[in-house]
Amino acid sequence: MKDLEGKVVLITGASSGIGEATAKLLASHGAKVVLGARRKDRLEKIAEELRKSGKEAIYEVVDVSRYEDMLRMVKTAVKAYGKVDVLFNNAGVMLLSPLHELKVDEWMKMIDINIKGVLYGMAAVLPVMREQNYGLIINTNSTAGYRVMANSAVYSGTKFAVRAISDGLRKEESTDKNIRITNVAPGPVDTELVSHISDTALRDELNEFTKTKGLSPEDVAEAVLFAISQPESASVDEIIISPAKKLGK
Ligand code: NAD
Repeated sequence: MKDLEGKVVLITGASSGIGEATAKLLASHGAKVVLGARRKDRLEKIAEELRKSGKEAIYEVVDVSRYEDMLRMVKTAVKAYGKVDVLFNNAGVMLLSPLHELKVDEWMKMIDINIKGVLYGMAAVLPVMREQNYGLIINTNSTAGYRVMANSAVYSGTKFAVRAISDGLRKEESTDKNIRITNVAPGPVDTELVSHISDTALRDELNEFTKTKGLSPEDVAEAVLFAISQPESASVDEIIISPAKKLGK
């Protein structure tokens, strides 16, 4: 029997990068994965590939910044599989520039997706987890949620907020309900995230850095697997993954 056999895992931002790699890794360990993101074609392709290789995967097209979408994703999972063991709140955007150069719409986008998206995911899934008397919520944070990077007042702000929200919720959800909240915080990862940065010089610099010295999405997926695999008694509140091991590459 595989170690995640029977576990139902919801993953947002599953159409690329860390979300996609995590969906593939967890499904290969026996989990039933429910993929959520906005790009239907990508979700369909990933779910189909997984099913073709005998894994269990469905998807729901969602915008995490819409509460009704997150409610629908949870409903779909419960209808298909009867429960939710894990929510991996992973979708996010990063638009780096000095604050005065960012348009208000851009910083609102980061707040909507990175903060509201995480809150909506939690709010949508918690009633189900409370009813079940167990559940694990994993939020993708960032080392930017611990130390502010250059040109990242808003992005770092959203990730600091996710840490605060996670800490607050961990205090509220008493342990007798067996609901755990973990933050996985990687350093730079080689994904499409950087492609949304409008400043081309900064984008190229970061692209070069993540490609040569960054983590891979699979490294982060391993950390998520580790968090899920821990027994409740050894629950971890946060996992910070430094790319330092690759700095000599
Ligand atoms: P990515 O761009 O490949 O993945 C982000 C995913 O979120 C994509 O699937 C995208 O379609 C989805 N998404 C964006 N807005 C959405 C919305 N409104 N509704 C639903 N889905 C939406 O990049 P990634 O690096 O895999 O990012 C995943 C997470 O990792 C993000 O929260 C990001 O902040 C965090 N992170 C990334 C890095 C890095 O260097 N790449 C480092 C630390 C943390």
